[in-house]
Amino acid sequence: MGVPLRDIRAEVEPSRPLTVDDEWLDDLRLRIDDLCAIAADYLEPPQVERLREACYFATGAHAGIYRKSGEPYIFHPLAVARILASVRFDHETLIAALLHDVIEDTHYNKDQISAQFGPEVADLVDGVSKLTQIQFNSKLEAQAENFRKMFLAMAKDLRVIMIKLADRLHNMRTLGAMRPESRRRIARETLEIYAPIAGRLGMNHLRQELENLGFSHLYPLRYRVLQDAVRKLSGNRREIIGQLEARIQDRLRDEGINGRVVGRGKHLWGIYQKMRLKHLPFREVHDVYAVRIIVDVVDTCYRTLGVIHGLYKPIMGRFKDYIAIPKTNGYQSLHTVLFGPNGVPIEAQIRTEEMHVMAEVGVAAHWRYKSDGDSQGNHAQQRAREWLRKLLDMQRRAGNPVEFLESVKVDLFPDEVYVFTPRGEIIQLPRGATAVDFAYAIHSDVGNTCVGARIDRRLAPLRTPLVTGQTVEVIITPTARPNPAWLNFVVTAKARASIRHYLKHLQREEAVLLGKRMLEKALAGRIGGLGELPAVRIKALVREFGLAGFDDLLADIGLGNRVPALIAKRLLPEEDEIGAPDASGQPLLIKGAEGTVVSFGKCCRPLPGDAIVGYLNAGRGIVIHRDSCKNVASYKKNPEKWIEVEWEPQISADFSAELRLDVINRRGVLATIAAAIAATDSNIETINTSERDGNTTTVHLLLNVRDRAQLARVMRQLRTLPEAVKLARRG
Ligand code: MN
Repeated sequence: MGVPLRDIRAEVEPSRPLTVDDEWLDDLRLRIDDLCAIAADYLEPPQVERLREACYFATGAHAGIYRKSGEPYIFHPLAVARILASVRFDHETLIAALLHDVIEDTHYNKDQISAQFGPEVADLVDGVSKLTQIQFNSKLEAQAENFRKMFLAMAKDLRVIMIKLADRLHNMRTLGAMRPESRRRIARETLEIYAPIAGRLGMNHLRQELENLGFSHLYPLRYRVLQDAVRKLSGNRREIIGQLEARIQDRLRDEGINGRVVGRGKHLWGIYQKMRLKHLPFREVHDVYAVRIIVDVVDTCYRTLGVIHGLYKPIMGRFKDYIAIPKTNGYQSLHTVLFGPNGVPIEAQIRTEEMHVMAEVGVAAHWRYKSDGDSQGNHAQQRAREWLRKLLDMQRRAGNPVEFLESVKVDLFPDEVYVFTPRGEIIQLPRGATAVDFAYAIHSDVGNTCVGARIDRRLAPLRTPLVTGQTVEVIITPTARPNPAWLNFVVTAKARASIRHYLKHLQREEAVLLGKRMLEKALAGRIGGLGELPAVRIKALVREFGLAGFDDLLADIGLGNRVPALIAKRLLPEEDEIGAPDASGQPLLIKGAEGTVVSFGKCCRPLPGDAIVGYLNAGRGIVIHRDSCKNVASYKKNPEKWIEVEWEPQISADFSAELRLDVINRRGVLATIAAAIAATDSNIETINTSERDGNTTTVHLLLNVRDRAQLARVMRQLRTLPEAVKLARRG
């Protein structure tokens, strides 16, 4: 169905000279033919004709314009349309893709497109043009209003974002022609904005390509190193994987199951993220065999699962049924992990052909099946619509774009929190980040001098984990210095590195000065200055710690080795103080608390491994509570009494922990519980029961455990009991 060159020239706007050089005309004709041939596979002939018409129209509109690579501009929209044709989009989408840069870059307007190709196409092109005008410098600086516009455009017609994603994909494929800075900016924007949107719409195939391209341009060196490592490893393993696949395939045939075993491509960005987020070396991340089994119908998926579980032992707790409960983006499959040869785990995914298409192209599957009467599962499509409807709803209620943006981001990037500065700027932090992380994210000087925070205008401790949507204000004092105890709770690398850096470079004199200041602060209101401290007490304490002099003690405080509040307490006798003789013989449990009486709150019973705070209690020394303890909430009343504490790294002592377990009444249930606990090497101190109703009983357990990890083992064990209904740690 080739078209003579003459015809191309004749079709384009006569008033505008065609300046595509002759050398490109052959190439252009081939590309147009190729696109139309793909479309002819699933579109009606008149639709293909309209498409060809649009090719000519776009060629004329972009005539004389060349891309950075030196190719005629028209090659870009042709490639974008081809990407969409390969996932079988309708002809309006393909035509709009061909014209997607026409309004933006040429003298044509929406009305002219509407006159020639109809209002539907014109709306699509207009939508894409509006998206194109939105510039994201980065997710951080993304303006709320821009995000809102983008989602509005998307909600109006999902095809707009599909065209935009295909546009971005082609631009990423041809990014090499751009200057390095632009390349990096576009790559980052792709990783931060477009790839997550593709993922949210279930278009995994597209998402992965966007991510890998983004990775290769943002971190070219890391990309190459990882690529080499993967290539080398898979070379070594090709044989084993081949055998594995053959063995599964044979067994399926024996069982009369009609299915195919396919290898799974390596997604470098995914590997990189896992290494980075979980701090794992390449070997550990990549040390799995991955297989995918594609079968005909849902029933066969479950049968196949049984068959491979018979072939290789499954690893407990790793089975996931995303067929019964699809992911939010509509993804469906069975996932299981098996013990493979040489102890290397096999990750297996089992799905139907339909689910496979859905997993690869997501929302786009809707258009693929449109011509088949819409009968095929439209999970992804429906879910995307629901999601967008939810967003529209939110946007109506939110009233302001910032609020709306926040809701969208929570959805797209669940592992991050977004908080605002008092001026409304958005700061992105990992989940669990605290006010100190926030302060360092703004500037290391702000972090280094922060003394407090206002979260949503209320004073809050610096260690408070932030929640998306909060407005955070940092209170700074120019003379303040980082507190070493912050290292216990900061989560961002920037905060950690800055605090460490500060402490490391603290000269002795500065450490002494800082220690002095911290001690003075701890003593504030009780004496006029350090000079008023009883010399005998200072001497005794210095001797007890085996130090050379008071300055050493101050330096120790400054460097974070000792808790100033505790030292203050030792130096300053309180009238009702019991003294600390009994503390000397007890094993060290809390860092820096030597010589102080330490006790543990019965309200929350902290265990080594729990996040804790200390409360200075006249006469009782320091009482340790869990961060989550309800008594800690009274922090706000006496902030000066609460101190940052941390567990000693090595603790060999037993602690009490309280559990509350609801069980079904059954003979011998208490014996079963006792046996389960004994199996974890833990002791029961007391066990009490109270009947809830005729069917269930609540069992109150007081246990002896070494730490949080052991308690977790006990709880895991108890949860496996068939009688167990509900289990919770108390306090
Ligand atoms: Mn474009």
